[in-house]
Amino acid sequence: MALAQQLTELRIHARELGLFTDDRELLTCTSCGLMEDVTSEGFLITCDVESLDINDSGLRFTEQQEGKFSCPRCGANIVAGDIDSQNDSLQHDEG
Ligand SMILES: [Zn+2]
Repeated sequence: MALAQQLTELRIHARELGLFTDDRELLTCTSCGLMEDVTSEGFLITCDVESLDINDSGLRFTEQQEGKFSCPRCGANIVAGDIDSQNDSLQHDEG
């Protein structure tokens, strides 16, 4: 089996396990504040952007078509990769 094919199958398997395979940007809903995050174990979760507790809400963004998702909580449409302009305001001070 070709290496590339093995990697593809690994990714598919990782997705089945709920692991985030890092092939797209994390989504954030600008309407209700639901955001994706990745735990230290590599699991994809969603939580509230304003919440300090990172607990998995159990909700998952659903992909409607290539690069376009809908928020499972409020139904807003989200375009993957279109969050660059928001990053500045979402950054927290480390210190
Ligand atoms: Zn939403």
